[in-house]
Amino acid sequence: MNKLFPTSTVGSLPKPSWLAETEKLWPAWKLEGEALIEAKQDALRVTLQEQIQAGIDIVSDGEQTRQHFVTTFTENLDGVDFEKRQTMRIRNRYDAQVPTIAGAVSRKKSVFVEDAKFLRQLTDRPIKWTLPGPMTMIDTLFDGHYKDRATLAMVLAEILNDEAKELAKAGVDIIQFDEPAFNVFIDEVDEWGVPALNRAVEGLTCESAVHICYGYGIKANTDWKKTLGSEWRHYEKTFPSIQKSNIDIISLEYQNSNVPMELMELIRGKKVMVGAIDVATQTIETPEEVANTLRKALQFVDADKLYPCTNCGMAPLPRHVARDKLKALHDGAAILRNELSN
Ligand SMILES: [Zn+2]
Repeated sequence: MNKLFPTSTVGSLPKPSWLAETEKLWPAWKLEGEALIEAKQDALRVTLQEQIQAGIDIVSDGEQTRQHFVTTFTENLDGVDFEKRQTMRIRNRYDAQVPTIAGAVSRKKSVFVEDAKFLRQLTDRPIKWTLPGPMTMIDTLFDGHYKDRATLAMVLAEILNDEAKELAKAGVDIIQFDEPAFNVFIDEVDEWGVPALNRAVEGLTCESAVHICYGYGIKANTDWKKTLGSEWRHYEKTFPSIQKSNIDIISLEYQNSNVPMELMELIRGKKVMVGAIDVATQTIETPEEVANTLRKALQFVDADKLYPCTNCGMAPLPRHVARDKLKALHDGAAILRNELSN
């Protein structure tokens, strides 16, 4: 982008209360059939409008058409049995009833391409579209078929690659793979996590991103963070292989987190979406707080590669809080932009 410090969100934004239950990770829809399809499109219009009104430069669908960032994608795959559920510990933190891989996995049809086309015709701004990353998908599935995580990762990466290519053709500018699991299964990132991402972006004509965070602001995650001590150095172990990957942009959590910022040196050369908005608190950052975080990040990221962003998705937050946080992100980035142009 030509503009310095273009703002964006990680992906998900709160859903309107007429569409789905609010402040939940797996909210139930309030409508069904045709009415639900129409309501999802209306929510897309609203979420886009709210981003534009807050001055966000790179917009998204706010994941309004998905119940959950992982399961909505896996629901559309053959070989995944949603009737047969198993209890699995997600990210080694909380139990969830996850579907079972019962046979060879393949994509029946495009999952989000129609939604992306719909958003594309509503705006001229650059669009970022999120997809779950292979490792994070694997962490939300019970594998009764491949029984080997590296093999399954490559199968999923091929499927994601097909979807990503169709999204790029539909006019999406950045495809982002969400990999919070990279902060948990650290040793496997180099082994098969990054190779799977490279496979997922093979031949992609638009830019690509990977988002690695410490999770949504839900209790299981905030409790986990309390056990991590005063310095969170997870990124240190995975950044060297991410730096060598074919991914263009890295989206990271920094606001109110104990991640030492200097670790960003390890991905020098990549564009960085710097998390300057905390999604685990309803307190609204002041523009000056946002600017401070971004200013610090400037020591480790070249100005033309710094993209102000949120720490993670904002789906579980009240709508007015998310709106105010978007505005704070915009205003904070503007402070820094002014400083640099003076
Ligand atoms: Zn996240």
